[in-house]
Amino acid sequence: MKKEFYKSVSFKLGVLSVIIIFSLFASSLLFNSQIDKLKNRIDYIYFGNYVPVLKLHSIEENYVDLITCMKTHKKCNRDPFFKKIKKDWEYYNNSYKNLKERKIVNEINAFAEQSLTYNSKISTYTDMIRKVNFLKEHEKTVAYKQRRAFLEEYSSMKDYLFYNMIVLVIVSFIFISVIIYSIIKKDNQLKILTKKYKLDSITDSMTKLYNRKYFDKIFDNMPFISNANKWNTAFIMLDIDFFKQYNDTYGHDMGDLTLKAVANELKNYFNKEYEYVFRLGGEEFGVILFDVDVDILKECLADVNKNIESLGIEHKNSTISEVVTISIGAVIYEPNSYVSCNKLYKIADECLYKSKQNGRNQFNIYNEGE
Ligand code: GH3
Ligand code: MG
Ligand code: MG
Repeated sequence: MKKEFYKSVSFKLGVLSVIIIFSLFASSLLFNSQIDKLKNRIDYIYFGNYVPVLKLHSIEENYVDLITCMKTHKKCNRDPFFKKIKKDWEYYNNSYKNLKERKIVNEINAFAEQSLTYNSKISTYTDMIRKVNFLKEHEKTVAYKQRRAFLEEYSSMKDYLFYNMIVLVIVSFIFISVIIYSIIKKDNQLKILTKKYKLDSITDSMTKLYNRKYFDKIFDNMPFISNANKWNTAFIMLDIDFFKQYNDTYGHDMGDLTLKAVANELKNYFNKEYEYVFRLGGEEFGVILFDVDVDILKECLADVNKNIESLGIEHKNSTISEVVTISIGAVIYEPNSYVSCNKLYKIADECLYKSKQNGRNQFNIYNEGE
């Protein structure tokens, strides 16, 4: 049973580890995909917008230089400027544009191509510079928007990762709690079972009193406990009167019921701390009362005789009463008197015998003086 229990615990721990590993794996995949997205964004900002702006800037500078050249030299050689502008413009024109941008850039492209001839005037280049500035502004606006979108996405990704981790922690916590709860529950069940088996092993199954085995244990230790605590301790033997006749008259099953009723009465009466009631065997009971004095003992035993009689269990074939009665013998162990257990048992038995001889339904306490 214990083996199976640990097996199931290790199985659950195994499942937990798999779940944790799987969750970590899944979140790292998600994290990676988010990081890729982020990387693309950065690429787009720096290589999709920043570089085109640089190109436009270079085109503008070349146009300005071209205008200066034309203003200062009557026969300005425009070819080097055309070459540089063409190269930069091609780069810009070929970079990615959305549909709306493409339309505008195509228009400007036609204008740019026209401008790169010797027929063009300074005013054409000034126009072109205006258009290039317009494109620069546009690219900057796009870059600004992209950056804002990037920052928003970055913070939402951070939140996403944070909540993802929280969910992971909560799931793991719940799972671990369930395992711990089931372990504690099983542990409690085991404790209860152990307690039950322990109690069963010292309990008489029929009367639910302590059994003979437990009596031997307590009785053997009784002198030591009394010596250590300086207690007077009473050992009492009780035996139902004419029980054989009772069985013969009412049957064995009724006999059992009566045994249980008597046992119950004794158990209810001697129910305090340091009071132990045993079934010694058959219809014979034993009681050990720690820390008791003789007057109280007398009162108790008189009560017991009276209470059993008061149960009113019919016993028509008893020669001493119309109901079930009990005879009692008792002895008090005084601390450090070192009387052996065997001797005490014998004395109590003799006292019981005396009660029987004297007419039953009575008690007899050993008196050293007699
Ligand atoms: P005395 O007053 O001298 O004690 O007479 P007694 O008949 O009680 O004594 P005896 O020892 O002759 O008989 C005891 C009887 O108790 C015999 C037996 O049938 C009965 N007995 C013992 N154990 C049980 C039990 O568990 N159930 C029932 N029903 N009877 C039992
Ligand atoms: Mg008897
Ligand atoms: Mg007997």
